[in-house]
Amino acid sequence: MSDAREGQATLDGVVSALRAHESFVMVSHVKPDGDTLGAGLALGLGLQQLGKRVAYFNENAVPRNLRFLPGADRVRRDLGTLPDGTMFCFFDMSDVARAGPYLPPFDAAHTLNVDHHLGNTRFAALNYILEAEASAGAVVLKILEALKTELTPQIAECILTTLMTDTGAFAHSNTTPAVLREAARMMEAGANKERITQEIFANKRFAAQHLMGTALARMRFDAEAGVVWTVVDAEMLASCGADSEDTEDIVQQLRIVDGCKVAVLFKALEPGEVRISLRSNGEVNVQSVAARLGGGGHFRAAGCTVPGSLGEGVTAIAEALRAEGVASAMVVPA
Ligand code: AMP
Ligand code: MN
Ligand code: MN
Repeated sequence: MSDAREGQATLDGVVSALRAHESFVMVSHVKPDGDTLGAGLALGLGLQQLGKRVAYFNENAVPRNLRFLPGADRVRRDLGTLPDGTMFCFFDMSDVARAGPYLPPFDAAHTLNVDHHLGNTRFAALNYILEAEASAGAVVLKILEALKTELTPQIAECILTTLMTDTGAFAHSNTTPAVLREAARMMEAGANKERITQEIFANKRFAAQHLMGTALARMRFDAEAGVVWTVVDAEMLASCGADSEDTEDIVQQLRIVDGCKVAVLFKALEPGEVRISLRSNGEVNVQSVAARLGGGGHFRAAGCTVPGSLGEGVTAIAEALRAEGVASAMVVPA
């Protein structure tokens, strides 16, 4: 079932395991995005065609802008009693810890890990990790093709959402010709690109745009090191009437500053911890930076959560960046 690459299942191995199981739980990562949800929903819809029982787990509520996804209303934290031998399938997560603390107990022998992150810990019995793919949903598409299920408009819409989410609507460097061909194929199969664009990229709440403005007002730029950073704290959220979902697009606005090599958003929203989002223009591997602090991600997009105050978070990132060759005297912006 494994090939030469250690811990990597073959596509055939994945397909026979999926066929052999009758009950599944599709697991998406905490603070879910369009990739982790779209990938799990797409495979789940395919398995339902084969008469399988499929449940969908996420510890959080589905974000407002992803509720249009086919099957999103079936995603929940409490799944009730599951049959013995239920297979747990994990999508878009470099480690099982990304599923969060509420994941129901599962049998490690019946697990499948479908991902595209660098440094995936290959935590499952079957690991199908394609790092060159733009989204976990693109990996699912290969599995669905091998399963020979019908590519319904609903499945196509889920897959197209994963591609658009992880390529920034086809703007990022992971937008290969193959991605554009797959996207075209999803549209031909009935995916509504306009709706995805509208739902995910164009219906910003007033509070979110207000928060963007206040975060950009606190932005700092170390032009010599090429580091752009800012913070969002609970006070800023409250004064804008925003919530944590409204922080999603801020780091990308830092990244597109001319001369920015590394963009960092520090979010101090819960007491005692700082969530950090990192983006790179392609020179610096921010996955390595995040991994130094227990996080992970991709070369150009990564994240981590560190304990302590905002100041401690900034210091931790400054040190991790220095260790990766980017020396910047970062401070908490006033
Ligand atoms: P974000 O900045 O939250 O959009 O995350 C960017 C990328 O880093 C995504 O691919 C995430 O899956 C990954 N990532 C974010 N936070 C973590 C974390 N704490 N541990 C591992 N990977 C993370
Ligand atoms: Mn993700
Ligand atoms: Mn992804």
